[in-house]
Amino acid sequence: MSTAAGPTLRLDDRFARAVPELATPWQAAEAPSPRLLVLGEALAGELGLDPDWLRSDAGLRLLVGTAVPEGAHPVAQGYSGHQFGGYSPRLGDGRALLLGELVDRDGRLRDLHLKGSGRTPYARGGDGLAAVGPMLREHVVSEAMHALGIPTTRSLAVVATGATVRRETLLPGAVLARVASSHLRVGSFQYARASGDLGVLRRLAEHAIARHFPEAADAERPALALLEGVVAAQARLVAQWMLVGFVHGVMNTDNTTISGETIDYGPCAFLDAYDPATVFSSIDEGGRYAYGNQPLVIVWNLARLAEALLPLVDEDEEAAVPVAVAALERLTPQYEAAYAEGMRRKLGLDATPELALVDDLLALLKADRVDWTRFFRGLAGAARGDAEPLRRHFLDLAGVDAWLDRWRALGPDPEALVRANPAYVPRNHLVEEALTAATGGDLGPLGTLLDAVSRPYDERPGLERYAEPGPGDGTYVTYCGT
Ligand code: AMP
Ligand code: MG
Repeated sequence: MSTAAGPTLRLDDRFARAVPELATPWQAAEAPSPRLLVLGEALAGELGLDPDWLRSDAGLRLLVGTAVPEGAHPVAQGYSGHQFGGYSPRLGDGRALLLGELVDRDGRLRDLHLKGSGRTPYARGGDGLAAVGPMLREHVVSEAMHALGIPTTRSLAVVATGATVRRETLLPGAVLARVASSHLRVGSFQYARASGDLGVLRRLAEHAIARHFPEAADAERPALALLEGVVAAQARLVAQWMLVGFVHGVMNTDNTTISGETIDYGPCAFLDAYDPATVFSSIDEGGRYAYGNQPLVIVWNLARLAEALLPLVDEDEEAAVPVAVAALERLTPQYEAAYAEGMRRKLGLDATPELALVDDLLALLKADRVDWTRFFRGLAGAARGDAEPLRRHFLDLAGVDAWLDRWRALGPDPEALVRANPAYVPRNHLVEEALTAATGGDLGPLGTLLDAVSRPYDERPGLERYAEPGPGDGTYVTYCGT
């Protein structure tokens, strides 16, 4: 491995030093002919990386992991996870690497991580690779989430490797360079707990506290304070998903972060028609991770975190249980408060409306399969006195008129409505169209889509079709997704 990664970049290995038991030193596979497909210039700037340098040969070699700076020690991270409810004791980074941690311009510690960088000891039957399409999907959707103000891992770049990946067909390969406040997951704690070594679990908890919840170190029970911190962060996150109509698709415990950032964009999608039963993933046959289930699934996932942490909460595990349960029981009320506050903003109101106003609206949207994003964006016009464009989405006109009267009586603010409700989200048909074109070598549609979703509240001429619902009946399915 060469060391030509720029004079200023320093990658630390705090995670690997704190919990070497969860860090397998590894290096990226060779990439035959790296070619940059997309670069997050603003993010590069935040990280103190020069975009022109990242575009150079040396920069591309960093972005695919084949040349790392002096002193960097890339590792594959070990973790477990409940996948669709079934426990897998050994998952881990099968095709990913943590290159290291860097300090950004604001002094925050960020992980620089690669996905699609070759097989690791955690690869099981997998080929360790990723295809261009799914990596660009993660780029677009995570950039959109960030622009919407929703905590998420970020995508610094997607680089085509020049290698071919075998899926249902042969596809061009790619590596995603991902940035996160950390890659610690509920599954990391499950793995540490299952190791049977309390020292590992304790060091992992201390590392997580130092990175994400430093005030927890001074709590009477730091592990409990850690659990409470994750509960609060995930309650806020899932409320934001629900408000924007996002379906994660694979809420396994290995895809649930300790930081409260959205991670691992596989078969995810945004609602078109509002229906709580919406599922996009072809592998989610039972609908476990349907849109409307997400607030319940997060409780289940954090119960797995609580179980893993029990011996740190109290030496006497019997005594730890009621304390941990009490922390978990705060999740749903915190979620409901965050959702209610978000709905207040989405409805352009000064005060939180009575629950019935929201419930009645959801019933109307569901009955007429109304497009979620369009409806809320259209409220600004209705608040200014032109409800016609909105009414067009409904068959039950008496119902929607009665609801609009109740809502208008509360004095919604049109300006606030425009700021709270995006015009552009990465709708499934637009993402598919952009990925298909990019896989065939045309990056034009991807660029336009990125432009739209990077300024989601700012409606611009020429982007009208990016604000329109998809064709068909909205029953879109993502196959494979990775
Ligand atoms: P994901 O669905 O991307 O969250 O991945 C779930 C698990 O499968 C993780 O442990 C991944 O590292 C692993 N994995 C997914 N795809 C591959 C692949 N092509 N090669 C090796 N491991 C993979
Ligand atoms: Mg994952």
